[in-house]
Amino acid sequence: MSSKYDVVIIGSGLGGLVCGYILSKNGLKVALVEKNNIPGGCLQNFIRKGVKFETGMHYIGSMDEGQPLRRFFDYLSLSSKVALSRLDTSGYDVVSFQGNRYAYANGKKTFTETLARHFPKEKNSIALYIQRMEAIAERSPMYSFRNMDNPYWMDSSNMQIGVAEYVRSLTSDKKLQNVLAGIMPLYGGVAEKTPLYYHALITDFYNKSAFRFVGGSDIIVQLLCESIRKFGGEIITGSPVTKVRFNNKEATGVTLLNNRFIEASKVISDIHPALLMDMVDTPLIRKAYKRRIYNIEQTLSNFTVYIKFKQDSIPYLNYNYYHYPGDSVWDGHFFYMHMCDEPDQKYVRSAVLFESMDWKTVEQWKKLPRGNRGAGYEDFKAKKAYEMLMNLERQFPGTVSHIEDFWTSTPLTYSDYTGTLEGSMYGILRDKNAFSQTFIPHRTKVPNLFLAGQNINAHGIMGVIIGSILTCGDILGISALTKDIKNV
Ligand SMILES: Cc1cc2nc3c(=O)[nH]c(=O)nc-3n(C[C@H](O)[C@H](O)[C@H](O)COP(=O)(O)OP(=O)(O)OC[C@H]3O[C@@H](n4cnc5c(N)ncnc54)[C@H](O)[C@@H]3O)c2cc1C
Repeated sequence: MSSKYDVVIIGSGLGGLVCGYILSKNGLKVALVEKNNIPGGCLQNFIRKGVKFETGMHYIGSMDEGQPLRRFFDYLSLSSKVALSRLDTSGYDVVSFQGNRYAYANGKKTFTETLARHFPKEKNSIALYIQRMEAIAERSPMYSFRNMDNPYWMDSSNMQIGVAEYVRSLTSDKKLQNVLAGIMPLYGGVAEKTPLYYHALITDFYNKSAFRFVGGSDIIVQLLCESIRKFGGEIITGSPVTKVRFNNKEATGVTLLNNRFIEASKVISDIHPALLMDMVDTPLIRKAYKRRIYNIEQTLSNFTVYIKFKQDSIPYLNYNYYHYPGDSVWDGHFFYMHMCDEPDQKYVRSAVLFESMDWKTVEQWKKLPRGNRGAGYEDFKAKKAYEMLMNLERQFPGTVSHIEDFWTSTPLTYSDYTGTLEGSMYGILRDKNAFSQTFIPHRTKVPNLFLAGQNINAHGIMGVIIGSILTCGDILGISALTKDIKNV
């Protein structure tokens, strides 16, 4: 039997896993290659002193019967096996700004009424806003399951309007402008750059319904890996890909760090496109394309404090908290989330506290060995963690004395673990002013080399799943694939 694979996938993040699932389910011989010992990328969880922490998947939306993510989970055989805990419907996200707390409630009507209590004169603007978010999201064929005959259609008009620009056009109330932009950390937003399209998709996604995983998002990795293996796919971990190989017209496979060559008819890359460019040396990929990929700005990274609380000391917070200390939400934030370990949780055991941080802040330590970057780095982390915990204490007095232990991560950690460029949370920064330069299609000039993952289409659980379907559709035939998904 030939050892040649139909498809080799570089990287086992959500994008790689979903591609692996779809292709192996459809009878292709798939190899999924991951540099780390554990698959999952941003879906990895870790355990310290008996408690579990999520790293890059804290809450999801649109999981009620018939809603978009639920339909994809049904197709991926996940729905019945993943335990979820619903966030507070009267305020799944809370935005803290200039001394007030503003709850985002599920459903357009309740969202409007809840915010209108703070802004009674602006009720119409709020209603218009949340309707527009839904309308934009629903224009995406794969999100609405409408117009699926044309799944590659892209709503470029809303890619060229900025979030900040849009909220300014909606209302002259500066406070409301900020409150409506209050989930910007979910896409690493930049005021005059981030396209409205991404904001709308995420807003509508969570407004439909919002949940935490019970016991960790790594259940998705476990289930997808099980299915891929069951369908005959192979998952090779602890094996960084170092090169994509080509003949004079197409890719022929990938070489691993241990020099093993994996021959395949098609290659899909789920890693950051700039990392892929370092692995390709062929005239089939033009220098101008490489330059474009290398020059795109990245979304910010963050500094995270992972907190273990003393047993039964802090009540479980059934919402996510976004705090903005300045006069504009675009100027800095921290956000705080509890993890759900069991249904009907009363007390929290682990929580995360994030603050955005750029690569430059930690770049000086990047060449030092992981796990041993020296006293300067350790001091920096300790100081930053202290500062953030004091901010938390100001927002939730009495919390810090209940902390049993805590750990931290920096942009270097993300870069070490997932290889994302500059530790960026969501990969490349889409810019409404340079939309076509910052939007990377899943096709490349090489006919059998495809891209997947958060840098293509969109980031987050929904963006990555849809992107993976579009990528696989090019291999399997998109009409048959979308029909299958729709008919589940
Ligand atoms: C802090 C944080 C919080 C987030 N919270 C949420 C949330 O609450 N909800 C939500 O929907 N989304 C969230 N996201 C976004 C979401 O996690 C990502 O968009 C998504 O998981 C990215 O998947 P991916 O497959 O594109 O990439 P990744 O998860 O980055 O996977 C890429 C994989 O490729 C591997 N790799 C890299 N180089 C090589 C190589 N040379 N050879 C082999 N393998 C390689 C990496 O190790 C990694 O496993 C969050 C992200 C972050 C960072």
